[in-house]
Amino acid sequence: MKAMILPAVGAKLEAAERPDPSPKGEEEVIDVIACGVCHSDLHVVDGDYGDATPIILGHEIVGEHKTLGPVMVYAPWGCGDCPECAKGQQQICSNAKEAGLVVDGGYAEKVVVPNTSYLAPIGSLDPYSSAPLACGGLTAYRAVSHGIPDLGKRSKAAVIGAGGLGQFAIQYLRHLSDAEVTVIDIDENKRKEALGRGAHAAVAPDEVDTKFDFIVDFVGATPTLELASTRVTKGGCVVVVGLFGGSIPFGFGRVPHEARFLSSVWGSPKQMVELLDFAAKTDISVPVERMPLSQAQAAHDKLRSGAVSGRIVLDIAGE
Ligand SMILES: [Zn+2]
Ligand SMILES: [Zn+2]
Repeated sequence: MKAMILPAVGAKLEAAERPDPSPKGEEEVIDVIACGVCHSDLHVVDGDYGDATPIILGHEIVGEHKTLGPVMVYAPWGCGDCPECAKGQQQICSNAKEAGLVVDGGYAEKVVVPNTSYLAPIGSLDPYSSAPLACGGLTAYRAVSHGIPDLGKRSKAAVIGAGGLGQFAIQYLRHLSDAEVTVIDIDENKRKEALGRGAHAAVAPDEVDTKFDFIVDFVGATPTLELASTRVTKGGCVVVVGLFGGSIPFGFGRVPHEARFLSSVWGSPKQMVELLDFAAKTDISVPVERMPLSQAQAAHDKLRSGAVSGRIVLDIAGE
């Protein structure tokens, strides 16, 4: 099979011919149709998650299964044997082996998954536009889900950072709550895009003049976390998803009383199924740019340059 390999940390992706996988036990092989390119892929290249090289990247995978048809792969494969996995929270399993981050993923014509429980049929969804749901869409869905139960008609929600994940979050908040949704981003074009996705308002960070019951920070830098902690209401909720690595002081009197602060990681297997169902019933989407598998390095370069307004998806079936 054709694959794009990351041979070593910091190296360029290389085209390679690999033997077709031969599944053992309960393992299943999927013919990959589409694989999204995610910022986490760049973190693997940079060695931020350790060194699993040589590795085939790609964790936003849609492919064809011989009996289930077109499926989305749930990529954070939990150990199945710990308290988190027992609760269905495989995304926080300490021994998870994430496809495309730790073990071989979807920048290839075929991928092996441990068993069919990690496959969810996508029904009539388009494989290319739905691939980013597997990580970007699911991560934003889980992040938003932490706040939805407390949002009512007079609530205000804010999304910090209107990249691909932020654009998903705006649409979820509009569909799943009655809150007024404000997007905060330094980039004027992204603010415009956000208004097109249904945000009620889109402002620059220095234009924020109100408090919010719920804030999702898709940047995670110190200034964005500081903005969130000063702009969240008492009893409100701040969710950080962005991997920028910032921090804020936490303690009594340092943050508004009874405000909750939590990080949110990826999503559970159950939430991925929920999300596919939700996507089938709504028109949620982000702009998707298709590139051939052989152009995976160019896709990485483009993502790194910041020139991607939605998500890039590698077209693997079409190559
Ligand atoms: Zn586990
Ligand atoms: Zn990802």
